[in-house]
Amino acid sequence: MTTQFDISTILAQFPALQHTDGELPPVYLDSAATAQKPAVVIDTITEYYRGYNANVHRGSHSLTANATLRFEQARETVQHFIGAAHSKEIIWTRGATEALNLIAQTYARANLTAGDEILVSELEHHANIVPWQMIAAETGARVIKIPMRDDCTLDLDAFYSLLSDKTKIVAVAHITNVTGTRNPIEEIIHAAHQYNAIAVIDGAQGIAHEDIDVTALDADFYVFSGHKIYAPAGIGILYGKQALLEAMPPWHGGGKMVEKVSFEGTTFAALPGKFEAGTPNVAGCLALAAAINWLKQLDRQGAEVHIENLRHKAIEGIKNIDGLRIIGLQPKASLFSFVVDGVHHQDIATLLDQQNIALRAGHHCAHPMLDALGLTGTLRVSLALYNTEQDVERFITALHKACDLL
Ligand code: PLP
Repeated sequence: MTTQFDISTILAQFPALQHTDGELPPVYLDSAATAQKPAVVIDTITEYYRGYNANVHRGSHSLTANATLRFEQARETVQHFIGAAHSKEIIWTRGATEALNLIAQTYARANLTAGDEILVSELEHHANIVPWQMIAAETGARVIKIPMRDDCTLDLDAFYSLLSDKTKIVAVAHITNVTGTRNPIEEIIHAAHQYNAIAVIDGAQGIAHEDIDVTALDADFYVFSGHKIYAPAGIGILYGKQALLEAMPPWHGGGKMVEKVSFEGTTFAALPGKFEAGTPNVAGCLALAAAINWLKQLDRQGAEVHIENLRHKAIEGIKNIDGLRIIGLQPKASLFSFVVDGVHHQDIATLLDQQNIALRAGHHCAHPMLDALGLTGTLRVSLALYNTEQDVERFITALHKACDLL
């Protein structure tokens, strides 16, 4: 495959990936954990604090008016990026984890009763398992596992057989973080709706690699974290259909989420304020919008071809290492996991780190999936649009060296 994607222009925009003092830059292969940030995102944060820092939706001075305008424009940027019908369907959160907890603590708390079922895939990150277990314990609902197949894809036959009138919520990842498996969310959402269940899509990994249109998807909720799409940590998105969000009780109480407070009773603000108690992460919101605007002017399809080419090259370069097994290799993904039989994943990661190669070793916050695979951990190579052929070559050489040593 060839691509017009211009990697050198992209790479130059990432300060953390530049040469320093004649040293080679780090080979960063951990973008599924968090992506590096382009200068435009870093600059947006600095400009806000240097230039027009003020609280939003409070006070009447022009600094606050300016900050509020940009803050609400940032919300619209997110709205258009994911195809939401209204900006009030976009709720700022700290990240995907907080967004999933918000849904569990509000929608699920208000709608679940004993005996109801929440179907959750076995491939999930803990963030899309534990909040459901917590609310199930309080409501008497049950969390039911949708198993995966041996090839680390979701067992759709099992999913269909588990769906029933008891199903109230189906929660699955768009793309999983251990193997990069892309779940057929279109089909899953449609099937959930046949049973009047809602579909919650964890887009933490998917948002970085696909164009999303939540309206076309008919997703009830779609969540993601900014830091996986080149924005800072501490800002994320809960998208929810307006009617669902309006019917949900608020979660955190405090300033901005109220219309009128009195000791006789409090009335809550309209969307989106109802779910945004307290002073928001204004700089994070603006920086997320900056990351989105930066992404939108790129050749994203070209970027995905570039990533796929690098993944192919990496796998070709390591697949003949003695005892190396790729776990659940997916036909197309931005990442892959592997183990080397007889060698602990952490030992390999340490030797790679000594050669300035950063990748993830461990359970990837996915205990149930790793248990099903009979593994305690894997090594994960996750690529982003700033990775280069040289990165992959350095990784291949370093891994061969590490495995020779161990
Ligand atoms: N879901 C998936 C699939 C993830 O990969 C992650 C993070 O790695 C999360 C949820 C949680 O994201 P955060 O820690 O940013 O809330």
